[in-house]
Amino acid sequence: MVSAEKSNLLGLSRAKLKTLFADLGEKPFRADQVMKWIHQRGTTDIDAMTDISKNLRQLLKEQTEIRLPTIVEDYASADGSHKWIVEVASGSKVEMVFIPESGRGTLCISSQAGCSLDCSFCATGKQGFNSNLTVAEIVGQLWWANAKLGAYSGEMGRPVSNVVMMGMGEPLMNFDNVMDAVDIMMDDCAFGLSKRKVTISTSGVVPAIDKMKDYTDASIAISLHAPNDELRSQIMPINKKYPIAELIRSVKEYMASLPDRRVPVIEYTLIKGVNDHRQHARDLAILLKSLPCKINLIPFNPFSLSDYERPSGSSVANFRQILQEAGYTVTVRTTRADDIGAACGQLVGDVVDQTQRSERHKKRAESRSGKVFDKTDNLAVMADRV
Ligand code: SAH
Ligand code: SF4
Repeated sequence: MVSAEKSNLLGLSRAKLKTLFADLGEKPFRADQVMKWIHQRGTTDIDAMTDISKNLRQLLKEQTEIRLPTIVEDYASADGSHKWIVEVASGSKVEMVFIPESGRGTLCISSQAGCSLDCSFCATGKQGFNSNLTVAEIVGQLWWANAKLGAYSGEMGRPVSNVVMMGMGEPLMNFDNVMDAVDIMMDDCAFGLSKRKVTISTSGVVPAIDKMKDYTDASIAISLHAPNDELRSQIMPINKKYPIAELIRSVKEYMASLPDRRVPVIEYTLIKGVNDHRQHARDLAILLKSLPCKINLIPFNPFSLSDYERPSGSSVANFRQILQEAGYTVTVRTTRADDIGAACGQLVGDVVDQTQRSERHKKRAESRSGKVFDKTDNLAVMADRV
């Protein structure tokens, strides 16, 4: 008889751990103890949980385990950032990036291996979809970043203060796992991150945004990238299904459901000659009038399978100025960790491409430029920039 797979304590929310202990005839507070051991002290050995009786530890070892994803590569940037390549159970590799800034440390994590949504400017999208990350694989990225940055060895207090789901994948296409992972990140017995400091970035999966309020009160960022449906549908196929007006309606409702006053971040990747004209900025200012928000401009980060170009500094500045004059708070994302290929949209893991999409893009890119794309190009985004 094949025994059932052991449940992985790393990916169980407090509610699920309580159910597990109830099933074992134990008190609910055992959930708090186990969470503190794993997420706050970095314990991966059930035997080390000394405030739990030997008998219960034995039972836990028989029925459960603590299984982390594997870190297969570790890059440190000259600017203090880190990029880690993480291998998940499906065999795919995803990436996470840590960016230290004065007073905070932001960890950008992945939610899927690959992505099915195929935005025209995104390296992850070019790979097609491979797999959803499990709760433990999502939370495991935060666990590993803490471990690698010395949090569990007492060398550093809490290196990661903010988590953004802006790595590989569309978080809301992996809804249940992302909701549980975010729950663990914000749980006081685990990482205790504030709801203002955990941000789910989405390309606009409207039905998922509509149901988010029943699961979480995390912050959100919306990848808009165009001020009208015609252009947005050209660069983001998901817009054909969920156009801008519906997206804005859904975001407003989510923000209204939050117990505190917060605004979403509108992300706008500026691509030269595509969505960076002054008129686009003026139209964007009008479009967003009814939605209190902050705007984050991201100059396009080039990668080898794309013909798009980054706009000049002055055109980014003009775009920003038009929005600022219209009354918006606008930030421009500076590219960090460029030397390790960890900038936005440069996150390209090594996925088993079931859709053959990367093959199609590769052929198209080859016929355009005569460039040969090979497996090493996955990480050659950094070589692109040298
Ligand atoms: N799927 C989610 C989160 C991952 S992408 C989403 O789309 O929001 C994180 C951010 O990086 C998004 O705003 C995305 O549009 C942006 N991005 C993707 N490729 C990029 C590139 N090549 N240059 C700059 N930003 C990019
Ligand atoms: Fe997927 Fe986001 Fe990339 Fe679009 S931008 S393909 S939604 S990861």
